Amino acid sequence: MTATAPSNMDWQRFIETLGEVEVIRDRPQVEKLSKDYYHFSPILQTQLADKTADLVVRPQSEAEVLAVAKACVAARVPVTVRGAGTGNYGQCIPLNGGVILDLSRMNAVKWVKPGMACVEPGAKLAAIDKVTQPQGWELRMYPSTYRTATIGGFIGGGSGGIGSIMYGQLRDRGNLNAVRVVTLEDDPQVIELRGDDVQQVNHAYGTNGIITELEIPLGPVYPWAEVIVTFDDFMTAARFGQVLGNTDGLIKKLISIHAAPIPSYFASLKAYLPDGCHAALLMVAEPSMELFQELVKEFGGTITDHKPAEETGKKTLLAEFTWNHTTLHARNVDPSLTYLQTLFLHDPELQLLQHMYEHFGDEVMMHLEYFRVAGAVVPAALQLVRFSTPERLQEIIEYHEAQGAFIANPHTYILEDGGMKQIDPVQVNFKAQVDPYGLLNPGKMRGWLERTTG
Ligand SMILES: Cc1cc2nc3c(=O)[nH]c(=O)nc-3n(C[C@H](O)[C@H](O)[C@H](O)COP(=O)(O)OP(=O)(O)OC[C@H]3O[C@@H](n4cnc5c(N)ncnc54)[C@H](O)[C@@H]3O)c2cc1C
Repeated sequence: MTATAPSNMDWQRFIETLGEVEVIRDRPQVEKLSKDYYHFSPILQTQLADKTADLVVRPQSEAEVLAVAKACVAARVPVTVRGAGTGNYGQCIPLNGGVILDLSRMNAVKWVKPGMACVEPGAKLAAIDKVTQPQGWELRMYPSTYRTATIGGFIGGGSGGIGSIMYGQLRDRGNLNAVRVVTLEDDPQVIELRGDDVQQVNHAYGTNGIITELEIPLGPVYPWAEVIVTFDDFMTAARFGQVLGNTDGLIKKLISIHAAPIPSYFASLKAYLPDGCHAALLMVAEPSMELFQELVKEFGGTITDHKPAEETGKKTLLAEFTWNHTTLHARNVDPSLTYLQTLFLHDPELQLLQHMYEHFGDEVMMHLEYFRVAGAVVPAALQLVRFSTPERLQEIIEYHEAQGAFIANPHTYILEDGGMKQIDPVQVNFKAQVDPYGLLNPGKMRGWLERTTG
């Protein structure tokens, strides 16, 4: 059984127990704040479209979060934590009603030291950089939703992004230093987790604790140029990406490779993307540009745009065409498109990648993001899929898996069924300790569902 708000719940009385905490009951607003970007998946669209919370609360401090936690435990009401609601898998959509805990007002950057910042969970990623960059430090990685997403949501539901080519993914040791977490025990408390203990709540979809503060390691600031390179042939573009990734002396933050016809979906980049081209969208440190150009020449690529660091960020960021923004732009043109997330982990010659590219042709359009996995440069594909039926989508997934590609399924809202693939007993045990009534984002953690029903 998953926790559900009691049917005879007296919400007015509940609100009175919250004191000064801001409460939203206006139905259209509650419905809006109950949704994320689940609609990228036609499968999730049908499963989640009617899911809505009963009300939204917007605390401004950890003390207010504790007050909400206390009230929800006393009334046995489900709590779904929300940052900016840009997740793709219905991560912050409440399956059983209850309260949305919107942390967007807890957005302070508390301190910055060389290589480290302490922030509240509702701080937007770009806003954090604005404070830290003048001091010579910046976020090691961020999603393409950099300008809208919160750091709490990135840790709760994200995996990596721009910068992962240097620093790996969020769950890699060293990319999250410490967190403070509010529990949903009978008497809610604040726990500090440091070092490896942070993995108990890192990428847990807010199912086992409300993160109220984070200490995040930073990287040194570079002047990042935005560069577009086009190629006549997709596999040459893919190999260029791999070699650029492996060239440790060239400093880069983004290697995003797109097979035709994907570049045609980027209307505002049209001037730099000739018809039928295959393209690399890149962020390269200015001091590396000279030698980077030699590499482009070696691969027969054409640099069609080079925006120096001081000219970037005036309009749309180039990063806002990469990672899952590629899917967003493509769906703006053709809403029937959906996507896959695939890792080609043991494919240094890109043979399996080439096989998939040729095997599916236009039905599964190849989009790669290079990043680091345990030190090795690997392509993660976020392919665009011409959706026909759920059965065909499943067939495509199974074909990839049968050939040895790793699918992080974006068509499920269950934590372990996406990229994790297995129940993490550390996260489940932590939930048992801090959320004994299973009130946090109920229905999302398979390990908990099997533990309580099995
Ligand atoms: C166009 C597009 C592009 C994207 N690109 C990327 C990308 O490059 N890389 C990537 O990793 N993701 C990407 N995403 C997914 C998403 O934008 C990011 O993961 C983002 O960081 C989520 O932040 P958010 O504030 O919107 O989180 P939300 O969607 O609000 O929450 C995400 C999850 O974290 C939980 N959560 C939120 N705050 C807390 C907290 N304080 N304590 C505990 N749990 C919490 C929520 O309950 C939910 O389960 C993309 C999504 C879209 C729509």
